[in-house]
Amino acid sequence: KATDLETELLIIGAGPGGYVAAIYAAKKGIKTTLVEKEELGGTCLNVGCIPTKALIKSSEICRNVRSSAEFGIVTDGAPRVDMAQVIRRKDAVREKLVSGIAALLEGNGVQVLHGSASFLSENKVSVEGKENYTVSARDIIIATGSKISRVKIPGIDLPVVMNSTKALSCTELPKSITIIGGGVIGMEFAFLYNNLGVKVHVVEFLDSLLAMLDKDISESIRDSAEKAGICIHTGSKVMKIQESDDGQAIITYEGKSGEGVLVSDKVLVAIGREPNLDGLAIEKSGVQLRGKGIDVDAHMRTNVEHIYAIGDVTNILQLAHVASHQGMAAVDNISGKSVSVDYSAIPNVVFTSPEISSVGLTEEGCQKQGMDCSVSTISYSSNGKALTMNEPEGFIKIVRDNATRRIVGGSIIGADASSLVSVLTLAISNGMTDRQIAETVFAHPTTAEIIHEAALGFGVGAIHQL
Ligand code: FAD
Repeated sequence: KATDLETELLIIGAGPGGYVAAIYAAKKGIKTTLVEKEELGGTCLNVGCIPTKALIKSSEICRNVRSSAEFGIVTDGAPRVDMAQVIRRKDAVREKLVSGIAALLEGNGVQVLHGSASFLSENKVSVEGKENYTVSARDIIIATGSKISRVKIPGIDLPVVMNSTKALSCTELPKSITIIGGGVIGMEFAFLYNNLGVKVHVVEFLDSLLAMLDKDISESIRDSAEKAGICIHTGSKVMKIQESDDGQAIITYEGKSGEGVLVSDKVLVAIGREPNLDGLAIEKSGVQLRGKGIDVDAHMRTNVEHIYAIGDVTNILQLAHVASHQGMAAVDNISGKSVSVDYSAIPNVVFTSPEISSVGLTEEGCQKQGMDCSVSTISYSSNGKALTMNEPEGFIKIVRDNATRRIVGGSIIGADASSLVSVLTLAISNGMTDRQIAETVFAHPTTAEIIHEAALGFGVGAIHQL
């Protein structure tokens, strides 16, 4: 028997889209109910952003220990990886954040229902869990996220093959791994394993790694990967995976120069994710799809006036901060405002070694739009802070619209790139010119000074670069 509930706003899915929207709505005085079938925090907190970064931190410590003698810190022998402890620490971080979200939801008065939601009509949703509910809602936000795409490669279901979720809880460190996919998730794992001392091969179908990035950045990360000992096979298609008698994976791929075979302990498939509508009975809501995702307008509204969709399920950009931003915009629109989501200054970070970040337009993107633009490039090698960190690799490229002198894009590869991109994001979203950045005082010594130098590059020229 299901309990009948009535609410003003029902949100389905408690990832960074749904839980942020729920807290924001509750703060605005909207009676809000949030349904989650698995763990609060969704993909991001449980099997995405946070667990990967916790493991990456362990892997960076491993790399730093290996090079500690250069810093004058002598350790006895090579570091030994206790993978079970690496995973335990990751789980502790995850659990702390998940319980923090539970407390925030409760503290803000959000009603949380644990169970699987499916539409009964455009205003009614059934929730099936330990307890069952029928919820009637004035407005609904669908935030059901994404799931790992299935690929049809013979042998994909063999026990030696993992996806990112499985890799995040694997307490045994393989000696070698082949990663299928040189996109964001594949490359983060490639450096993570490499830093832990694993032999890594990356097989990528396209001709470049991280193909969505600026070409120079994409080439530079390939150089860094190869220098670190990661073997990159671009322009290569995996044909089949087999398991040898002694439990090794045998990966056959077709590259530009013919067929190749790789042998490794494990295979990690990182080919992509797609919108998750499983079990939602979306057809009963009347909501239309575009491709595999839910079709929304700039206000995050679907074709059904009181139903919104946010985050990965819309298939616009698979990023946690985009899901949260869209969620807050949807709530603003539900509460009577008219807010559109603008995607022109969305930061994107790849946590490789070195880190990569980008925001706004690339040089190629400007040229495609017929924009008269200039580019200023500054290397990390003259940045004092980067040298103290022993991380002189990398560069920043910022792009200026010559007609207005406004900064319209930027890409960074190097130390602290994940934090520095926020400075560029602020500049771009507030229409700042190169002069305004050049006239701003940046603290010394910081890696952020490369942004100042790059801005000076449009005028008199950078101080620390010939
Ligand atoms: P999700 O986080 O997927 O949450 C959706 C929730 O809905 C889930 O908890 C699910 O259980 C629930 N749900 C689904 N159907 C139902 C139903 N019928 N009833 C009830 N509940 C339901 N993004 C970044 O920005 N930075 C990163 O560094 C980053 N790293 C990543 C690393 C990995 C390995 C992966 C896989 C992803 C990463 N992402 C990263 C992407 C990020 O995790 C997603 O973009 C983000 O989680 C999307 O948020 P969401 O709220 O749309 O959906």
